[in-house]
Amino acid sequence: MPIVTALTLHRLTSAICAAAGSQPGEAALVADHLVGANLAGHDSHGVGMLPLYVRCLTEGILLPNQTPRVVQAQGPILVLDGQRGFGQAIAHEAMRQGIARAAEHGVAVVALRNSFHIGRIGHWAEQCATAGFASVHFVNVIDHGPIVALHGAGEASLGTNPFCAALPGQDGPAVLLDMATSKWALGKVRVAANRGQPVPEDSLLDAQGEPTRDGSIMFPDLQGALIAMGEHKGSGLAMICELFAGALTGGRTMQPDHARAGGAINNMLSIIIDPGSLGDRQRMLNEADAMIAYAKSARPRRGVAEVLLPGEPEERRRAERAAHGIDLDERSWLDILAAARQVGLADGQLAEIVG
Ligand code: NAD
Repeated sequence: MPIVTALTLHRLTSAICAAAGSQPGEAALVADHLVGANLAGHDSHGVGMLPLYVRCLTEGILLPNQTPRVVQAQGPILVLDGQRGFGQAIAHEAMRQGIARAAEHGVAVVALRNSFHIGRIGHWAEQCATAGFASVHFVNVIDHGPIVALHGAGEASLGTNPFCAALPGQDGPAVLLDMATSKWALGKVRVAANRGQPVPEDSLLDAQGEPTRDGSIMFPDLQGALIAMGEHKGSGLAMICELFAGALTGGRTMQPDHARAGGAINNMLSIIIDPGSLGDRQRMLNEADAMIAYAKSARPRRGVAEVLLPGEPEERRRAERAAHGIDLDERSWLDILAAARQVGLADGQLAEIVG
């Protein structure tokens, strides 16, 4: 299994994007984001996405060098169209404008439609939290067929629709919840299938609606259905994400009247809040710190070493992988190198980058 440093992956990702037509700023944002996802432990949303991006660039369903088009901007409301551009650049700009609006009005509601894949949603909550803002994000995923079965359904009708929320601390997020609303994210099924490992029980249905642990049925043709997380409650949240992101934003939902080009389009409704507009900021920080300490002091259940809060596993993984490198599965690594060659990087250039 190749172990690659974050720096090497960053250089490789930037080079692939640049060779595929991205301007340097966009290539750097894509690399920051994808490598950041690997560092956080989410290989499902890291550099392993590059083969998909290259395929979609080649097919003209992912467009380099786009900027969000302003559909409506009035007071705290901002409606943007991502124009099928790289989500890493489009969402970054959407959050930048949303934060500026929240600073002015106390709150901003950003409706982002029609962006190509915006990756790990926690990245956007981190952008808000680092600027001192709390945020909530509802996201849907369209442009491919449905892959998530609602509670009680034997076939899929949604995407993996992530939900994310973060409260700012002294420096970055104090707590950051960021999750797919399927029990398992599709990218995690891909990584498990690449590693030849079974997916957890009760997380996947086959094409007949029967439980299976063989994740490979989802590739390349999405033959089965991931099960929504959290029984009826998680399934309900998945549906809320679909409607808030896909309908309330003025974007599109998964319903079959819309053409599907075979890419990964995200719509996202973000609410960005300036804590100072609701009360004393320092008091909020102190109250949150006290609550976090109290929650973490709870006696762990038998067999559990420590009570963790959302965001902590990613922080720890980041420290570990920054120090020791990122262990990619062999299949993902070969697919990334093949994608690099496809956009015209010669073996000599690749050898220079990856050593
Ligand atoms: P996950 O299940 O690994 O983690 C979900 C949340 O639980 C995180 O906030 C994490 O910090 C927390 N957590 C994990 N283990 C914990 C523990 N032991 N104790 C307490 N908290 C814990 O994440 P996931 O659902 O597999 O999602 C992976 C990533 O995929 C996310 O970053 C998400 O944004 C992304 N995603 C993106 C899309 C898209 O279309 N762009 C679609 C689906 C998912």
